[in-house]
Amino acid sequence: ADRLRLDKLLANMGYGTRSEIKRAVKLGKVTVDGIVARDSGQMIEPEKQSVQYEGETVVYRDVIYIMMNKPPGVISATEDARERTVVDLLKPEDKLLKPFPVGRLDKDTVGLLLLTNDGALAHDLLSPKKHVAKTYEALVLGQVGESDIQAFAKGVMLDDGYMTMPGELVIIEHPEWQGKACSFIRLTIREGKFHQVKRMFESVGKRVLTLKRVSMGSLMLDHALEEGRYRELTPDELSQLK
Ligand code: URA
Repeated sequence: ADRLRLDKLLANMGYGTRSEIKRAVKLGKVTVDGIVARDSGQMIEPEKQSVQYEGETVVYRDVIYIMMNKPPGVISATEDARERTVVDLLKPEDKLLKPFPVGRLDKDTVGLLLLTNDGALAHDLLSPKKHVAKTYEALVLGQVGESDIQAFAKGVMLDDGYMTMPGELVIIEHPEWQGKACSFIRLTIREGKFHQVKRMFESVGKRVLTLKRVSMGSLMLDHALEEGRYRELTPDELSQLK
């Protein structure tokens, strides 16, 4: 990490607002390399310098990686005038490093959403050139069958004329929903056009009733996370993703 102001460093780590921190510095509660800090605007090199708050070493980090099981009814954005966003679901202390959602799930789509402030990783995961695999589970109205598997394997034409890349479709079962024949499927795609999964099914005359993302690249949704809950990535998950 680069240099940053002492008050910013402490604020990022949840030690209070800038003005609270300024007061704490005035009261002599903060030391830098063992010396009582006098100026809350002092520049710090977190890699090289040691900051203590009331005698406790401040462990600094500047990146955050969160796995969320997105619930329905919230939008994949950082802020919105009217709608609740996935960032609104984060506890205040988890918002300090300003994580943003990596890509978008529709308002009614649930499942795996990564939130981070690591712009380089987000860029890599979203880059159309990288073809990161995303797997979805969906309940689809109607009988999804062999012809759909073959159509998706070749690529289908969306309503705007776009030909998709091949997608892997697996039929899991054929449940009934409200007395209607349905199909529960898994679909893996390697691109991310707007409403892509729903539009791929539309192209074969079928409608997606519910949609859930279960993986993105090497990252798999932790099924212990209920909808609306989140946790930080484990070191293993992070190293596999990078
Ligand atoms: N495809 C969709 O149609 N919606 C999503 O939210 C994600 C993929």
